[in-house]
Amino acid sequence: MATPFIDLGAQQARVKREIDSAISRVLKHGKYILGPEVDELEERLAAYAGTKYCVTCANGTDAIQLALMAIGVGPGDEVVTPAFSYIAAAEATTLLGARPVYVDVEADYFTLDVSDLENALSERTKAIIPVSLFGQCADMDAINAVADRHGVVVIEDAAQSFGASVDGTKSCALSSIATTSFFPAKPLGCYGDGGAVFTSDEELAGRIRRIARHGQSARYRHEIVGINSRLDTLQAAILLEKLKIFDSELLSRRVAASNYTHLIMEISKYFPEGTVEAPCVRTNQESSWAQYTLKLHARDHVKEFLDLAGIPSMVYYPLPLTRQPAVSSDARKVPVAEVACDSVLSLPMHPYLSDAIQIQVVDELQKAIQRAAC
Ligand SMILES: *Cc1c(COP(=O)(O)O)cnc(C)c1O
Repeated sequence: MATPFIDLGAQQARVKREIDSAISRVLKHGKYILGPEVDELEERLAAYAGTKYCVTCANGTDAIQLALMAIGVGPGDEVVTPAFSYIAAAEATTLLGARPVYVDVEADYFTLDVSDLENALSERTKAIIPVSLFGQCADMDAINAVADRHGVVVIEDAAQSFGASVDGTKSCALSSIATTSFFPAKPLGCYGDGGAVFTSDEELAGRIRRIARHGQSARYRHEIVGINSRLDTLQAAILLEKLKIFDSELLSRRVAASNYTHLIMEISKYFPEGTVEAPCVRTNQESSWAQYTLKLHARDHVKEFLDLAGIPSMVYYPLPLTRQPAVSSDARKVPVAEVACDSVLSLPMHPYLSDAIQIQVVDELQKAIQRAAC
């Protein structure tokens, strides 16, 4: 069996005809930059997420940078973000001359630990960027409450969680600003790079849009310094087609996740407690299941045996950001993030995962855990 980690081919087979004609339409009208598909997509994404505005941009990292620029983050400022995450939020913060300050994560959910948040805030804090890791949002109500008390802005990094929800409210509509990514492997991915910023604040939306378009207020009028960050019309056309099947794909991911969890519970009986743990989702949330991530004892050995058996798996992420030389400007202790980096392993996850493949993956996982224990 050769199962891909993410099966973009199966998805493409499902929407090939629609995407081919969408691409042809763009080639015909020729408006490759900021064509009509970009406007239409922004409207549909905002409607989907439940925000008033959506501004598309070149990628999910730019989306974070645009959000930070729009609220005026710069030298001397601090931005609080979880230590167990992808580099993007810390990188954008650092690029703007501000300092990332890291908080620990919750052991069960891998998202920002609110009990560690207040300690990390200072009078320099301008923003908190909780990351909705693996498709699950942090405790956004509690984070918003802390942020309100301290007068700082919350920017949800929803690169992995587009489509997720908390008590029925969608990810991207849970804070004053949110950002996402359309990198091909994300839950909603295009065929290249892409990203978007969401907000319901008209003034902020306008500023974000101006910054993303060279700081222009009108053509060739530049009042503020911006960047050039746009989503290609071709990618917007592709995303419009993929958005039509997105809810059905989300449902398939949820079914696949619950199958996995059932299978993992079965095999975990054969090992001492804590040898292998299925992911937990908060009871008031729906994850977008960008990743299906286990906690494992002897993770590195288990991964080696899975590799030998031809089962793809990934370690997101091997190092906390406090240990990344490029962005390690902070000495806060993040013990839970440290443990997570040593124990997480993500299994193949996508909407086109068959029962047979899942059974085989977990079967090989059981064998790998047995071998790793020897
Ligand atoms: C992918 C990702 C990003 C960045 O998205 P790009 O489009 O690759 O720039 C940011 N944050 C998280 C958590 C991500 O997973």
